[in-house]
Amino acid sequence: MSTPEVSELPPPFPAVQRDRATEAFFDAASRGELLVQQCAGCDTVLPPEAKTCFSCGSDNLGPTVVSGRGRLITWVVVTHAPVPVLAGAVPYVSAVVELDEGPWLMVRLVDADPTALAAGDAVQVDFVRSGAGENTGEMLPVFRPVGSEENATEEKA
Ligand SMILES: [Zn+2]
Repeated sequence: MSTPEVSELPPPFPAVQRDRATEAFFDAASRGELLVQQCAGCDTVLPPEAKTCFSCGSDNLGPTVVSGRGRLITWVVVTHAPVPVLAGAVPYVSAVVELDEGPWLMVRLVDADPTALAAGDAVQVDFVRSGAGENTGEMLPVFRPVGSEENATEEKA
């Protein structure tokens, strides 16, 4: 698996800080890896925040790194910031992505023309630094459409 390039993207992402429950996730993100959960009982791959397996009900979950590739399920263009800290970020695209490994994630879609998006579009994870200036936070996973020449080049990097 190639390591995604680290991007410094405007618009700003509010600085996100880790806690005990999220430190493994953010450690992986800082390495360019997307960490989710996998059920030890039935191998179902689950979203990072999962506490129990929605397939078999087990709470015996462990972290696993996924490909970061997936497909666009649905999206919305956010034009009014839901919270003040996002005021500098609008408009942005909030999307639901289905990872190749199965789970659905609610994500920020970047470098996307909302008028050109279609359900089923291929997307790929990338990582951006949250916060800005002296108030920086953890690396955050975002997704971008793939398929254009520009993105094909980036995948090789
Ligand atoms: Zn299970």
